Amino acid sequence: MSRKNLTVITGYYTRRGGIGESGDFVTSPEISQVFGELIGIWYISEWIAAGKPKAFQLVEMGPGRGTLTDDILRVFKQLASLLSKCDVSIHLVEVSPKLSEIQAQMLTGGKVQSNPEDKSVYMKGISKTGIPIFWYRDIQDVPLGYSFYLAHEFFDALPIHKFQRTDKGWREVLVDIDPEVPDQLRFVLSPSSTPATQNFIQPEETRDHVEVCPEAGVIIQNLACRIEKGGGAALVADYGHDGTKTDTFRGFRNHKLHDVLSAPGTADLTADVDFSYLRKMTQGRTATLGPIKQREFLKNMGIDLRLQVLLQNSRDTATREQLLHSYDMLMNPKKMGDCFSFFALLPHHRLARPDKKHKPESESPLPPVAGFSELLLK
Ligand code: SAH
Repeated sequence: MSRKNLTVITGYYTRRGGIGESGDFVTSPEISQVFGELIGIWYISEWIAAGKPKAFQLVEMGPGRGTLTDDILRVFKQLASLLSKCDVSIHLVEVSPKLSEIQAQMLTGGKVQSNPEDKSVYMKGISKTGIPIFWYRDIQDVPLGYSFYLAHEFFDALPIHKFQRTDKGWREVLVDIDPEVPDQLRFVLSPSSTPATQNFIQPEETRDHVEVCPEAGVIIQNLACRIEKGGGAALVADYGHDGTKTDTFRGFRNHKLHDVLSAPGTADLTADVDFSYLRKMTQGRTATLGPIKQREFLKNMGIDLRLQVLLQNSRDTATREQLLHSYDMLMNPKKMGDCFSFFALLPHHRLARPDKKHKPESESPLPPVAGFSELLLK
């Protein structure tokens, strides 16, 4: 039994889904409002760079408790005069009934309408700031159109396959029941190659142990096609590597490392995102930027300035300490600063030199994309 089967059978997210201090893990948007605000500004900056299209959809994959979208919506509200002629809608892709209820509460104050009959949109409502919100189980159901996609700590939650190189070729790491110990699962190597070993390993692979998340590949392909056809951008933020790491599959329960094979379905199972695989799966349909470390991305987005403003505006010491503590959590290389990265998909034309057509040899600078290069405040 591969991990995929394990996840489908026990359904951690559809049954437990413990995000937050009382759950199994805490994410950056749960730590600081600044995180979501800067991401909101990233989308606005891309919207302006695209010539302020008349409408855009913000599509979040796996919104958790809805905190990130809530913080982004606050930015959109603050920039209401800029967005006044733009038709904005929110589209959330979420499989967990429990988390979708929490999102509905957070974003609409609970004013939602369930649509059990509708196979694609299972719930809809209006945000506290007056923007329509729709819920789906699958990205394929979200209408096409100019869209900004967001996946924060989403891809790491998807099931992976594990492989090992042996003298006889690639073998898949599977899970079976330990015949010696009751109720205990164990890892075994497939005796021969499996369909997954034949289909999911890149011919040029140099590592001896590899984790592949085909579901992430399919979703990225889908996002790349959508951006190529309809325009927009995707921002992916997660812990991960650029095709270098090998054994990262692990479990968390009550904020502590947890053996992935014990008590299946009760812990958050996760594996680092392989950004090199995501890049490959775009199949050249879009340009990609990153991965760039979270602390560099947030610094480029102006987190230091935002922190100063919040510190100046806060009246009490406790709030100021909280602001500094959450800044440290997000930025410290030993905490989330170095292990989380940002990665973007953008239409090719977004990164084309503006005067290339006329003077192909010209060395004019590329149009900057916020976050991936320093934001110059003039
Ligand atoms: N983005 C949030 C939550 C991350 S946890 C944050 O940063 O706080 C992962 C989220 O993805 C949860 O909301 C979970 O229910 C959702 N999820 C997991 N697998 C999914 C799938 N296959 N399709 C859609 N959502 C999924």
